[in-house]
This record gives sequence, structure tokens and C-alpha cells, in this order.
Amino acid sequence: MQLEAKLTKPLRILVIAAHPDDIEFGMAGTVAVWTDAGAQVTYCLITDGAAGSNEKDVDFKQLAARRKEEQLAAAKVVGVTDVRFLDYADGVLQPTLELRRDLTRVIRQVRPDRVIITDPSMIYVSRDDGRDAYINHPDHRAAAEAALYAIFPSAETRPIFRELLDEGLEPHHVNELYLQFTEKPNIAVDISAVHDRKIESLLNHRSQIGEEAAEFVSKFDAEAGKEVGVEFAETFRALYFYNETGSNKDNPSE
Ligand SMILES: [Zn+2]
Repeated sequence: MQLEAKLTKPLRILVIAAHPDDIEFGMAGTVAVWTDAGAQVTYCLITDGAAGSNEKDVDFKQLAARRKEEQLAAAKVVGVTDVRFLDYADGVLQPTLELRRDLTRVIRQVRPDRVIITDPSMIYVSRDDGRDAYINHPDHRAAAEAALYAIFPSAETRPIFRELLDEGLEPHHVNELYLQFTEKPNIAVDISAVHDRKIESLLNHRSQIGEEAAEFVSKFDAEAGKEVGVEFAETFRALYFYNETGSNKDNPSE
């Protein structure tokens, strides 16, 4: 695993996640590093987060509204003001063609150089001794699968989802894909200088988490940092899809 080099040009970056708070746990530090370097980052949250409580008598509409506010505040801490909500129902997400089309629309609108999703192949997490195992939330996998196939082939292929052409949305080729929450990372981002902001961003999700989350995340980021010789790091599996011209041949203006 190697440390990611500093961004040298102002990239457009799109982060796609299932739930409000997913981004903050795994990669808000990296987002802060990127926006500090001039990147324009957009968040796309697929579900409304209304399953984020097991209490009786919860007003789901109120909870969804609160989680949106928390997400906007969390994004702002790391330099993100463009946050889009698709309002799918939380907890029962499926990688449908409808979701793939909605994500294709966002990709064609934002036209990102780089997209971040979670690793769609992550079904469960377990250690060799079997302890501390857990099942990856199916919404995470559904979101990742729909996003993966929105990137390719839908976003860059003119005849797929032709209704998007009617909306004036031309095809777009994504050059870089980063998978977060993966067992096979190949790149680490040094977030030591922005770790306080990551925690501040995370703690905005007050309806979901308390101070213990900050402790857990800090421990996790410190372990990742140790592997690459820095205090705190977040890790990804990076995939690069540059074609021969380094840009989308169908859109030479890009
Ligand atoms: Zn989640």
C-alpha cells in the first residue's frame, strides 16, 4: 500500500453513499484533504436514513429531516456544500435499474474525474479468530453495485437511459474509482492534519452516535496510519480507467 500523492489539479469528485453518516465514518478526513487541495466534492446520499432508530413511536419523517440537517452540517466541516439526497427508503435498498438511472443522472450532472463508493464485494467482515465479526449492511452493497454499473456502462453510453439525453445530460466517462470499506486497499491518504475535522464532521450525526464513535474511529484510523508510517490514515482500493487519450473520446471537449 502506498500513500496517495497530493492532488495537483482541482479534481471534481463525487462520493456516493447509502446512508447519512457512512461518509463520515470512513472517509471524511480524505474529503477534507481533497477540498483543502482545491477539489470540488459532491456528496450523493441515496437513502433518507429513516431506519436509523429502533425506538418505539419514532416519527420517521422527522428523523429523516433531522438526518439531512446532520449530513449537511457534517459535509460543511470538510468543505462540501453540494449534497444531493435521492430519498430512497432506508434499510430496504435494492440495486434496481431505477437506482442505476438516478445515479447515472447525478454522474452526468456532476461530471466527476473520480467517484468514491464502498466495495460492493464486501459481504461480511471477520477476523481469523472469528471475533468482532459483522455483516455489511445490504444497503451499502446495493448502493455500491448500482453506482458501479452507473459508472460503467450507463454514464458513458449514449443509448442507455435515453430519457437522460432528453434532460440534456450527455455521456460522461469516469477516469478514477476509489472503493472505500474494502479488504484489499492499495492506497492510503494521510489524514493526520485534518483528523480533528473528521471527528467534528462525524459527531454532527448526533441522532446516531456519541463520543464513543470518535474513539473507535480514531483507533481504526491510527491502525491504518501505522501501516504507512503516519499518525492517521484512511484507505481505499483505487482503480484507474484512463483510455488512450486520457479523456473520453466521445467528448473531446472534456
Ligand atoms: Zn450505512
